[in-house]
Amino acid sequence: MLGIDLGTTNSLAAIFVDGQTQLIPNALGHVMTPSAVSVEPAGTVLVGLAARERHATAPQDTALAFKRFMGTDHIVKLRGQKFRAEELSALVLRSLKADAEAHLGHAIDEAVITVPAYFNQLQRKATQTAATLAGLRVARLLNEPTAAGLAYGLQERADHTTFLVFDLGGGTFDVSVLEYFDGVVQVRASAGDTRLGGEDWVRALLDGAMAALNLSASQREQLRGNGLALRAAEQAKRDLSERAQTTLQLPGFAAQPLSRDAFESASSELMLRLRRPIERALGDARLNSGELGEVVLVGGATRMPMIRHAVARLFGKLPLRTINPDETIARGAAIQAALLARDAALEEVVLTDVMPYSLGLGIVDDRFSPIIERNMPVPVSRIGRYHTVRDYQTKLDLDICQGESPIASENLQLQRVSVNVPPLPKGEAMVDVRFSYDANGLLVVDIADVHTGEITNVVIQQREHELVGEALAEALKALDRIKIHPREHQQNAVLLERCKRLYEDRLGAERMQIQEALVAFQNALDGQDPEVIARVRGQVQSFLDEIDRGFVL
Ligand code: ADP
Ligand code: MG
Repeated sequence: MLGIDLGTTNSLAAIFVDGQTQLIPNALGHVMTPSAVSVEPAGTVLVGLAARERHATAPQDTALAFKRFMGTDHIVKLRGQKFRAEELSALVLRSLKADAEAHLGHAIDEAVITVPAYFNQLQRKATQTAATLAGLRVARLLNEPTAAGLAYGLQERADHTTFLVFDLGGGTFDVSVLEYFDGVVQVRASAGDTRLGGEDWVRALLDGAMAALNLSASQREQLRGNGLALRAAEQAKRDLSERAQTTLQLPGFAAQPLSRDAFESASSELMLRLRRPIERALGDARLNSGELGEVVLVGGATRMPMIRHAVARLFGKLPLRTINPDETIARGAAIQAALLARDAALEEVVLTDVMPYSLGLGIVDDRFSPIIERNMPVPVSRIGRYHTVRDYQTKLDLDICQGESPIASENLQLQRVSVNVPPLPKGEAMVDVRFSYDANGLLVVDIADVHTGEITNVVIQQREHELVGEALAEALKALDRIKIHPREHQQNAVLLERCKRLYEDRLGAERMQIQEALVAFQNALDGQDPEVIARVRGQVQSFLDEIDRGFVL
């Protein structure tokens, strides 16, 4: 059984063998597969690094960060082909599955897939659908922070521990507080900012550098949307994780020196935005920072020293980061897979979940009245009592919704129900509304009239946002019809896209050299002699490595 981290920016697969987790290399030999899909002019689909490379030259044909649309009806159109987020995710999952099968030498049809702890029912369901479309059965949807806890051996601690997982990825920030007690791991609280991640630090770096250049507003706007400028900034950001100084070469400008200090001052506003989710998660878990057992850093962006330092300052202790932050979640997923398969090397642990959101009713004056509050352990059942507000009112309108806003209409509307009540003076007709949220994440609502005892059952359905039944079968067929770029030619696809990107980036003599390399490589491919292709590919690759310093994987 595979463990899969289906990330916004990067995805990874891992297995548990001989008492250890092992990451699965893809066709390029990398353990990280960018969560990117691109459709070529011929209709062939590229997944992973080749697709991310292609984003530079064909952004309109390339989808990135589609995890953000999971559970919505948002459609991405790539060269006339329409995709839902589940389908794009399924393509990534299919690619990870094929890599695992090639690596392990046998078929794989089951996986543990991680999801953010705050993912709601629609998003979890969509993740499951993506797996179905990829030919994988989901043995468990595992919360990402729980996976991080497992990777760090939370379940092996002798006594009661609390754990804060600080996960800063490409575009999202998640903080969760886990508790381990008596064989049970529980997500006590989870908070975050879905619009804060490593990409924002890239923009901050770019803005800081542009401020030093005294550019006009329109020049700045242009550079912010320039793929080459963003790439240079991404590279500089990574350089500054390793050393105190680097140079930044923006297109059309002389290379400028850039220090880690300058980058850190340019990021000060972003650093402030980290605080609120941390405070909220600690508040919800009823802990103060001193009471935490361990703090764990997860996500590629926590490689930045400023993050480590801020976390150490905030919690008064050094965070754990002995596992590569971009690999932690996949390793945890592999451990969960082994636990489900009852690997003898692992002790039994039970994992429980908490409510990711509050569920309640929209009532009079557009007020939100929560019945089950977020962070309650599931399964859970709670009752709220509601009464009429007008004399002889015969109907009560209740909006079942999910969210944290005091204003009902600002929350996610799940369903509207109307119940008849006996005509009585205001406040005398009453109903008891019971919300039951089971371990599978299905909400059931029962409404009991306090006077008549009559019970109305409401089952929450979200049909319009789900891919089920015929639509699912249709989507499966559509995916099967797609021509995926063959796995064994991945390296070639990446190299071609990289040549095209660099050709577009560069000018003059360098450009001509790139074109020559591209022609030579294309000729080799046309010749179809594997030995020649491998030789020319090696040459072109070393040439590109020379001119494309510190190529970002
Ligand atoms: P996600 O969970 O969104 O899929 P990852 O955990 O893979 O994402 O993190 C991706 C982010 O990590 C990107 O913004 C990337 O720039 C950042 N990152 C990766 N390596 C480094 C590094 N050495 N220094 C700074 N940021 C890094
Ligand atoms: Mg992640």
